[in-house]
Amino acid sequence: MGALEQHLSQSGGIRQGRVVRYVAFATLVGGGVHTLACWVALQLSFFRDYDAFEPFFTLAWIGHGLFLALVLSGVNRRCRDPYLTQPLLWWSTLVLVVSVYQIDQVRLPVMMLFFAILQLGLFRSTRRQYARLSVACVAGYLAGILLAWQWHPERVELAVELIQWFGFALMTAAIVFMAGEIGLLSQRLADRNQELADVVRWTRALAVQDELTGLFNRRYATERLAKLRELADRGGLSLTVAYADLDHFKHINDRSGHQEGDRVLREFAALGSALLDERDFMARFGGEEFLLVFVEHPEHEVWARLERLRSGLAQQVAADGVPVTVSLGMACFQPGDSLDGLLQRADAALYRAKQAGRNRVERAAPALEEAL
Ligand code: GH3
Ligand code: MG
Ligand code: MG
Repeated sequence: MGALEQHLSQSGGIRQGRVVRYVAFATLVGGGVHTLACWVALQLSFFRDYDAFEPFFTLAWIGHGLFLALVLSGVNRRCRDPYLTQPLLWWSTLVLVVSVYQIDQVRLPVMMLFFAILQLGLFRSTRRQYARLSVACVAGYLAGILLAWQWHPERVELAVELIQWFGFALMTAAIVFMAGEIGLLSQRLADRNQELADVVRWTRALAVQDELTGLFNRRYATERLAKLRELADRGGLSLTVAYADLDHFKHINDRSGHQEGDRVLREFAALGSALLDERDFMARFGGEEFLLVFVEHPEHEVWARLERLRSGLAQQVAADGVPVTVSLGMACFQPGDSLDGLLQRADAALYRAKQAGRNRVERAAPALEEAL
């Protein structure tokens, strides 16, 4: 990853700890409350089939355990919704509806656990998903009543059960409607957040990036270079800078048009970037002027890379059939160099390259020599 990508990259992703807490709460607390409610019903003889209690709840807890295992092992990370919201809601509802078939008289209070299940899906379900689940639950509840009435008519007061069911259906419809409104609101909030995040990213990029080439801009590159110079001054690293200025760029613009000129600038930026190692960087300093910064490379190696850039450009990039060339001036940091001093020496070397006929790399004389 290049320096710019590294600077702009942001950490993302879900927090697995939160997912585990969510699923653990849903299965352990939700499942626990449901099991307890049914156990109380069993003690009060409202749970019809005594023998069915144990196998049924063993199965239910195997299912709950599976959900927990999925998130504890991290398998859920591969899913589109790592919270496994919809499978969890459907599983809990299924367990609830099947259990309620067994319960007489206190069927409604147990069914009301469905509202707690709906809470689990809040902010993570669309109105349509909620509606589907609720229709299935209300229908399952009704089927449970009718089946119980058919097989055990002596235990079911059909009229009372149906009135309770009707009340439950109305309440469910109201909750689904409200949840839909909340869902829309939260969606709007999420969209607004996304927009804000995009703006932050964009302004961040603008602050450091040159729009045309995608390289660092002058302001940011100078800041970065100043920090590197301090390190170099403390003897922490070796530093070499090079100015690059495309030759007769004005002619390219005049001859081939501004757009073609822009393309050449982008191609040069790409060629230069390809020469860089992790800690090196390239910036666009102005129109057709660039700065390359090399960290921890011997001087002769930087020279060789700049030569490669120079010859690569002349061979690979042309405007209207005329090869594009570049002049470069490089300078190595020397103890005591100021930032301006270092850049001035690179600039002087560039000037010499232009004077000597362009399409060449010139090396700055050491600071001491130049002062003499
Ligand atoms: P030299 O070899 O001496 O460097 O000559 P030159 O023509 O390259 O130098 P000069 O500084 O006279 O011209 C630079 C030109 O770069 C002038 C300007 O129109 C052009 N320029 C500046 N910014 C951009 C840009 O973003 N896109 C394009 N296409 N051209 C630009
Ligand atoms: Mg220029
Ligand atoms: Mg130029």
